[in-house]
Amino acid sequence: MQKVSVKLKKKIDYSYNIHIGSNILEDCLKDFFKQKNFSSIGVITDSNIFKIYVEKLKPYFPEKAKFFSFPAGEENKNIETILKLSSSLQKENFDRKSLLIALGGGVTGDITGFLSSIYMRGIPFIQIPTSLLAMVDSSIGGKTGVDTEFGKNLLGTFSQPLAVFIDTEFLKTLPEIEIKNGMAEIIKHGLIFDKNYIDKLNKMNYEEKIKRSCEIKGYVVSKDEKESGLRQILNFGHTVGHGIEKLFNFILPHGICVALGILIESKISVQKNILSLKDYNQIEKILDDYEYLSYLEKIKGLDIEKLFSIMLSDKKNLKGNVNVVLIKEIGKIYTKEGKFSFSVSRDEFVEVFKILNIL
Ligand code: ADP
Ligand code: ZN
Repeated sequence: MQKVSVKLKKKIDYSYNIHIGSNILEDCLKDFFKQKNFSSIGVITDSNIFKIYVEKLKPYFPEKAKFFSFPAGEENKNIETILKLSSSLQKENFDRKSLLIALGGGVTGDITGFLSSIYMRGIPFIQIPTSLLAMVDSSIGGKTGVDTEFGKNLLGTFSQPLAVFIDTEFLKTLPEIEIKNGMAEIIKHGLIFDKNYIDKLNKMNYEEKIKRSCEIKGYVVSKDEKESGLRQILNFGHTVGHGIEKLFNFILPHGICVALGILIESKISVQKNILSLKDYNQIEKILDDYEYLSYLEKIKGLDIEKLFSIMLSDKKNLKGNVNVVLIKEIGKIYTKEGKFSFSVSRDEFVEVFKILNIL
């Protein structure tokens, strides 16, 4: 027998910068394209962003840039959209030296990142997030992908952008509910990582909040890119949040569900004697200040058995219990023996939902 060794030990530095500011996009793009050359440039947007921004922003991009759009909405985050966009790129002779640019919310970022990671076995991309949620969450961390009939983000890759440009001017046209969607993740970042951030939150402008959230998410992701450990803390509020999102067939926005998830998972932390009532009350007050608690009414009387079974099938579970990230105090997640999530039983859920007057 012969043996041939294929050595694949690679060390590649995928580090990149996130630029944040008001009215920075034009300069950022001009600087970027001064330093780098691409055979073609494709700017991908959804139909809403295309309508509002493409004419205005065209002069910011090199002349050869081509603009492609797909119909807005999570329901279009699927493989058909990827195939259509890929055909459009091929018709325009995009090759391995081309660049893609995601200009839009989280859906556009996920689609563009995924397409760029598989187009001709991978071409580079940059992110220009336009929704608050994408600015503080989905544009950082390199998760890309599309949904399938079986669930969200089931086809995807880890793929890091060359750069992220965040221009807070985009927030001026963002609907109020989308601001709420992003704020929930901002509050989450403070709760899991930085009490000082929570204390200063209502005095910070968007630029400052986005910077701090990018720092926190960026730090966590750089410590654990593939979610084997620390990255799990970003799931705070999300086990219950995702469960509620699915239970109500995605009619409630992600951020609303996450905010309710944060409240419920904090209450579970109190019941398990991990979080003090004082800190819980402060968390409840923050969620109230940002007008999330009125949505409790919308989930009142929910089917707890169905919710529990959704959460069970969603998360790796132990002996019929659901694993949840718990909070120890404001700014600190609970960890024990290197673990970041802990088993919660059906009865514990029922008790907390009753205390919160949801059941
Ligand atoms: P996400 O909430 O993950 O960012 P989407 O990419 O679907 O999800 O964005 C949410 C909605 O907000 C979409 O309808 C999108 O077209 C719209 N949108 C995103 N950014 C802006 C903006 N700056 N102005 C107006 N609408 C926007
Ligand atoms: Zn989220």
